[in-house]
Amino acid sequence: MMTSLYIHIPCCARKCLYCAFPVVTGRFFREADYLDAVELEAQPYRQQAVSSLYVGGGTPSLLSTDGIRRLAALVRENFIGGDAERVFEMNPESVTPEKAALLRSLGFNRVSFGAQSFDRRYLSWLGRTHGVAENFYAFKVLRSAGFDNISVDLMFGFPGQTTAQLDQDMDALVSLGSEHVAVYALTVEERSVFHVRGEKVSLDSQAELYQQVCARLKAAGLFQYEVSNFARSGFESRHNSHYWQGGNYVGLGMGAHAHHDGQRSWNADTLPQYLKMIRTGGRAVIGQEHLTPVARLMETLVLGLRMNAGINIALLEERFGVLLPVDRREELDVLVADGWLIRDGACMQVADRGRLVLDEISARLI
Ligand code: SF4
Repeated sequence: MMTSLYIHIPCCARKCLYCAFPVVTGRFFREADYLDAVELEAQPYRQQAVSSLYVGGGTPSLLSTDGIRRLAALVRENFIGGDAERVFEMNPESVTPEKAALLRSLGFNRVSFGAQSFDRRYLSWLGRTHGVAENFYAFKVLRSAGFDNISVDLMFGFPGQTTAQLDQDMDALVSLGSEHVAVYALTVEERSVFHVRGEKVSLDSQAELYQQVCARLKAAGLFQYEVSNFARSGFESRHNSHYWQGGNYVGLGMGAHAHHDGQRSWNADTLPQYLKMIRTGGRAVIGQEHLTPVARLMETLVLGLRMNAGINIALLEERFGVLLPVDRREELDVLVADGWLIRDGACMQVADRGRLVLDEISARLI
C-alpha cells in the first residue's frame, strides 16, 4: 500500500468557538519561519512516492501566494506522486481568484472547503470569520479557477436547530453542486470555548437531523460511502480512504501525526516547541507508540466499519497475520444479534441505525 502525505498549516484568523485544535492565530503565526521548518522536516523523505497529498489546518488558505509557492516547491523536491490526489483546505474568507488560480497551476486538484453553515446567525455563533455571501462567492471563484473536485464541509446539530433550518442549509449546500460533502454534528470538545461556556447539544435531535442530512444528500445524487462523507461517483476522498484502510502516512508540521507499519508518532503541538526542535534536530517528534498486529487489526476493523462498504475480516487477518481474538469475535456476534452490525460472509458492515452510535460500537470493540 502506498504512503500518503499530510502537511499541517496551523494558522487561523481567530479561533472558532467550538474548536479544540492547537492553532496559531493572527500575527503569532510566522509564515517564513514555519515553512523553513517544514522544508527541513521534509528533506529526509527525498523522492519518496506518495499517493495523495493533503494540506490541512488550521487554515492553509491564509498562506500568502509566496508561501503557497514555497510549500508546493518543497513537496515537489522531496516527494513524487504522478497522479496523486492533491488537496488544499480553504476557508471562504481567504479564497481569492489569485490563490485559486495559483493552486490550480501548482497541480492541486481538489479543495476541501469549510463552509460549515449557510445560516448567518449560526456562522456568527460558531465564531466563523466568514458570512453566507462569502460561501457562495468563494465557491464560484474556485469553480472559475478550474476546480472540478470540491468537497464542502457542513456542520449541523446546533442547539435549537430545527429541521426547517437544516432544510434551508441543505438547499443552499445542494445548490452549489459540489462533488463531495463532509458533514459533522457539532460536538462540545474539551479545550473549546463552547466547553468553558457550558454549551450543550442534544444527541436525540442530532440523530434526527443526521437522518435528514443523509436523505437530502442521497436525493441530490451524492451517495454515502462513509459515516460523514458523501460523494458523486468517482469523487470519494482518496486521502481519507487511505486513513480508513489503516494505510501509512507521513505527517509534516506542528502537531502532525505519522504512521508507518504500526509505528505511530506525533509532533510537538505548540509553535515554539515545533520550531525549536526542527532547528536543533530536524525532527519534532514528541511521542510514539508501536501497535501490535492485533491492535492494528482491531483499529483497522473499527476504521473500516466507518465505510459503507464495510470491512472483510478474513482479509484483515491475512494482512496482519493474526486471528481476531475470541472475545472480540464474540462481541461482534452480539452487535450483529442486536442489529447494530450486519454480517455478509466475512464482511462486516454497520446497519443504518448503528451509524448514529458508531463511537459507542467502536468503544465496545477496541
Ligand atoms: S478554522 Fe478550523 S482549525 Fe481554525 S479555529 Fe476554526 S475550526 Fe479551528
